[in-house]
Amino acid sequence: MKIAIVGTGYVGLVAGACFADAGSDVVCVDVDREKIERLEAGHVPFFEPGLEDLVKRNCPARLRFSSDLAAAMEGRSIVFVAVGTPPSEDGSADLSHVLAAARDVSRLAKSDLALVLKSTVPVGTNEKVSAIVRGSKHHIAVVSNPEFLKEGDAVNDFLKPDRIVVGTDDDRAFELLSRLYAPFNRQRNRLIRMSPKSAEIVKYAANALLATRISFMNEIARLCDAASGDVEDVRIALGADHRIGYHFLYPGLGFGGSCFPKDLRALVRTGEELGLSLEMARSAIVANEAPVEDLTRDLEQALGPLAGKVIGVWGLAFKPRTDDVREAPALKLIEKVVRKGARIRASDPQALETAGARLRSLGLEDRVELLRDPYDAARGADALVVATEWSEYRSPDAQRLRQSMRGRHVFDGRNTLVPEEIVEAGLVYRGVGRPVRHA
Ligand code: NAD
Repeated sequence: MKIAIVGTGYVGLVAGACFADAGSDVVCVDVDREKIERLEAGHVPFFEPGLEDLVKRNCPARLRFSSDLAAAMEGRSIVFVAVGTPPSEDGSADLSHVLAAARDVSRLAKSDLALVLKSTVPVGTNEKVSAIVRGSKHHIAVVSNPEFLKEGDAVNDFLKPDRIVVGTDDDRAFELLSRLYAPFNRQRNRLIRMSPKSAEIVKYAANALLATRISFMNEIARLCDAASGDVEDVRIALGADHRIGYHFLYPGLGFGGSCFPKDLRALVRTGEELGLSLEMARSAIVANEAPVEDLTRDLEQALGPLAGKVIGVWGLAFKPRTDDVREAPALKLIEKVVRKGARIRASDPQALETAGARLRSLGLEDRVELLRDPYDAARGADALVVATEWSEYRSPDAQRLRQSMRGRHVFDGRNTLVPEEIVEAGLVYRGVGRPVRHA
């Protein structure tokens, strides 16, 4: 099938490459010309495992890039919108990019088509977009098809989705989407059809539920800290209950990234607009502030005033296997402790560039040294914090770590290290919701 995708970010590019790999003819469009030029030269502008191979394999036979929407839409029966929906000042989703893209598609359409909203948008957006495209000379059916992929595993998630939610009242549009997604449905039909409004709500409900589990486990970890329990034991026994399961039961420094924080805030805002106070979502946001606050307090307790102290940080991305640092807990922690006078030596397998840009925008670049080698980052540190659970950090050479560091405190912000290995090297181990261990 011939499709166009407007917006070539994490979602648009992954979707484009996967649809192309499944046999469709895809043109990915973006207003960012530099991004398009880099893609045309074969460079994926962000790190996502497997994506560059997929792009190279399909480009240019079935996958092409353009900043000319009119040309890209030529002969296409489906146009996806996968542009950003960043948070506005009041927490609501900023729909300006989505609405601008919809206006462009409506104006440039030369035949009937399905306009598919893949961006995460609040309930009622399909209606707004439908009102815009009613002005077109052609019939444009607006379909809500939220995306559930997760960064770090995005290609796999897109190729093998748990479900494909299609919100539309238009039978022909549904038929088109069914044909497009058929290659991903061979094992079983993953398509779930519903109204556009329900489809819009599903996406926020899914993210809010997952974020709530994280916040809940972080709260249980705080309880373990206060009562001298061990959250690892609690987690293992909790997850064994098949009604609960093990996914998203890991306490840590809180959730970050481009989705959970912004989607929770937007959900709360949507509730307010409808006269509702969504207390669970609101609490998940508030509880998410605690882990970084607690860690800052623990650092001060262990080291004394942070002014002049050196803190090593392993991991800057908001989670492993991505270079995305949007709302990353590591950067929140760095900002807090730097403002208290600490200096940072930080490392990350993929996110040094994106973190550098973020630190410059915060004016903190002079206080943070970004280093490729994690042991370099630990050198001369009074304390080391593991802030992202990259597999590279799971089993460090603890003796080497001990020799590199000036102090002895290791804060495992993701409960990813083996405490015994750390303690045997003469270091002090502190996890999240776990007893302090030392020799
Ligand atoms: P992104 O910021 O990585 O990419 C968005 C792209 O859209 C940018 O390249 C931008 O230049 C382009 N763009 C903006 N306006 C445009 C226009 N009018 N025409 C053409 N291009 C335009 O964003 P993303 O992370 O891919 O997210 C896109 C949407 O998908 C958001 O609504 C997000 O909430 C949702 N989503 C994201 C993820 C994720 O893990 N990143 C997962 C599921 C859903």
